[in-house]
Amino acid sequence: MKRTHNCGELRKEDTGKKVILSGWVNKYRNLGGLIFLDIRDRYGITQVLFDPKNLSKEIIDTANSCRNEFVVTVSGILNVKPEANKNLSTGEIEVIADGIVIDNESVTSPFNFLNGKSDAKEEIRLQYRYIDLRSAKMTENLLIRHKVALAARNYLSDKGFIEIETPTFSKSTPEGARDYLVPCRIFPGTFFALPQSPQIYKQLLMVAGQDKYFQIARCYRDEDARGDRQPEFTQIDIETSFPVQNEIFELTEGLMKEVFSQGINVEIQTPFPRIPYLQAMEEYGVDKPDIRFELKLKNITDITRSSGFKVFADAQTVKFLAVGGLENMSRKQIGEYEDYAKHLGAKGLAFVKVIGGKLESGVAKFLTEPETDEILAKCELNGDGIIFFGADKLSLVNKVLGNLRNRIAKELKLFREDDYKFCFIIDFPMFEFSEEENRWQAMHHMFTMPKPEFLEDLKRGENLENILGQLYDLVLNGVELSSGSIRIHDSAVQEKVFSILGMSKEEYENKFGFMLNAFKYGAPPHGGIAHGLDRMIMLMCHEETIRDVIAFPKTKNQNCLMMNAPSEVDQKQLDELGIEIKKK
Ligand code: ASP
Repeated sequence: MKRTHNCGELRKEDTGKKVILSGWVNKYRNLGGLIFLDIRDRYGITQVLFDPKNLSKEIIDTANSCRNEFVVTVSGILNVKPEANKNLSTGEIEVIADGIVIDNESVTSPFNFLNGKSDAKEEIRLQYRYIDLRSAKMTENLLIRHKVALAARNYLSDKGFIEIETPTFSKSTPEGARDYLVPCRIFPGTFFALPQSPQIYKQLLMVAGQDKYFQIARCYRDEDARGDRQPEFTQIDIETSFPVQNEIFELTEGLMKEVFSQGINVEIQTPFPRIPYLQAMEEYGVDKPDIRFELKLKNITDITRSSGFKVFADAQTVKFLAVGGLENMSRKQIGEYEDYAKHLGAKGLAFVKVIGGKLESGVAKFLTEPETDEILAKCELNGDGIIFFGADKLSLVNKVLGNLRNRIAKELKLFREDDYKFCFIIDFPMFEFSEEENRWQAMHHMFTMPKPEFLEDLKRGENLENILGQLYDLVLNGVELSSGSIRIHDSAVQEKVFSILGMSKEEYENKFGFMLNAFKYGAPPHGGIAHGLDRMIMLMCHEETIRDVIAFPKTKNQNCLMMNAPSEVDQKQLDELGIEIKKK
């Protein structure tokens, strides 16, 4: 028996057709002798009815022996159901069976599917990923991922970009994270590194005259388990020659419009706002602002400098976050926010309530009239509300109020989950000083070109903290989706950046000599961007973690629970590689 249809396509119009379906038993029911099997495949679920009145004992016995996740092929005639199931696209029809073959049995599944999702905890889902992926939700996620990748390829190809593969076995050229190393058998003691991104290759492709490159590229970074990271992840990686920044932004806007339309049928509004980094930090406290809601931070440092309230007067920065409609917040609720602020590193969380155009309770009594007037003028509340203050070092104030802003917006449901608001963050500083390592670090990566007005400062190695790069991020709903920059294409400037970052000539020649050399053979001006595909799909699928949009992900601790990897290898393999394991 060869299937004639899939399990998601039959409708009322097909009534009377003789059909054969193959799939997995999603549900088995025996209702007073009538046997119902719901047969599932990637496309949907179709109900099949076995009526003992019309069927041989053998067929009934076979149907009766089916259990969840058995693989079966059934034949029958399509019929309209007496009562439609509105939750299923095939809910109006059923197959009146006249035959069944069990293609394969299944031992008891470790979980069931409820509302199209596995009902087990994540470890079990990951261990039995091949069953988990049968669910409607996971199948949909994989399909959206496929559609997005396809739409991206088509869009970029239409714009003249060609997909070029770059190696997975590369040279260790740290880009901020630790490299994964691959020992080389032929030259014991040497290693390839898996690329953290195709950054250097794509730049060399520009030197190679390929003009417009893209690749749906796998990247590998060995980072500690923090946040929602995977040791390997995927980027839509793009590079172009002779660009101006705006060209890359317009290409990105078009790409996002296309992939959201093709992937999930959502119309994205363009152009995206361009927000300078310093403005983003000032107004939202973070460099990845969620702009689905307003709630901007306000700075009152100038006016509180001479405050009688010591906490404000002594602080490097004083900013506030005013939220309408929370004027009745209890002391207990405020206490919870205060604990949150402390957890983020603040000493406390001062507040006042705005009631009838006046400041009341909290720190109201410590504020002078000019301070009160300034706060009321700036708070932009349409009525009553509450104001939270941050008074500390600028970076801490931003961190506390920026996070509080996101938390409150979520609690008050100030945005819709299915609203997609993009923005570009532009004009990032090139460098940030790492107190920990006592040296300058690249804010993005070390191949970024400064804005032209800072080139001289860079060459002189002066004013480093104020140098802005031609460096940009794409942010979606508070998530950093993409990063890119216009690159350095001049070997002298590139050498200067390496040395600012603390590398000796010997060190950068050793690591990047080939690149500096390539730049001497006619490197064109170039720039690009890389879009995080996993995060993008995660937001499209309304998932909480990128693991739910990757077919075979690792756990937070970098394990593959399905294959039990990483794992030890044979002594023979180690001997061939000249590797000896030191027991910890
Ligand atoms: N290679 C960069 C990254 O992975 C992206 C870029 O600058 O194009 O973050």
